Amino acid sequence: MLDAYVIVVAGVFGLLIGSFLNACAYRLPLGISVAHGRSFCPACKTQIRAVDNIPLLSWIVLRGRCRACGAPISWRYPLVEALTGMLFAAMAALTGPSALLALQLLFVAALILVSDIDIAERIIPDVVILPVAAIGLVGMTVLDPRGGPRWTWLAAGLGAAGFLLGTGLVYKRLRGVEGMGMGDVKLALAMGFFLGAAVIPALFIGFIAGALAGIVLLARGRSAKTAVPFGPFLAFGALVALICGNQILHLYLHVALHS
Ligand SMILES: [Zn+2]
Repeated sequence: MLDAYVIVVAGVFGLLIGSFLNACAYRLPLGISVAHGRSFCPACKTQIRAVDNIPLLSWIVLRGRCRACGAPISWRYPLVEALTGMLFAAMAALTGPSALLALQLLFVAALILVSDIDIAERIIPDVVILPVAAIGLVGMTVLDPRGGPRWTWLAAGLGAAGFLLGTGLVYKRLRGVEGMGMGDVKLALAMGFFLGAAVIPALFIGFIAGALAGIVLLARGRSAKTAVPFGPFLAFGALVALICGNQILHLYLHVALHS
């Protein structure tokens, strides 16, 4: 009973945070403060009334259009809200109410926000990823939920960032194009701080997903030199590892030790 209550509360909280992430994704690249001012329609600048600013529901009721000017509102807004709500509920179900859950929800929100901004703007803003990484390192080192040596969280972050940096340099040498940016390196740093050893399957899944997407784009006749933002693939790997990273690690160790 308590479980169901916690999951529902986390899901609703996720919808509200998703709405805030939408505001951040719109405002941060434009340099507008996220702390002040009500939401407004990007097309006609009319302030959005509270009743029209309910996550998910308002978009459906208004059929994806601004009430004042009728300009279409991107489907990415309700998508971000729904995704944040679902992932918050899933993490609450897996972890239960705890300090660890608070850290995990911060990490999930950051992954969604940087993916959203990376897709639209091809950047991962320092102002988001660096503070989140620092909180992850301190929080996970203090909580140490897996009970291993406490330095593993620091080592996982530095290792993941170093790996991305090295891969990016090799890719640039081979292909002559920038494959990964420093934003991806900083994202990997944060992933290691939050995931510990589970950052290994996270990076693996991220690279596989990115490669598959690259093949699909090539098959559709898109140039290989068209830069595809890599951040969302890393974030996808991080979410999979966050939800079942321990199981993947156990399975891997089991297979490795018995073969
Ligand atoms: Zn409008």
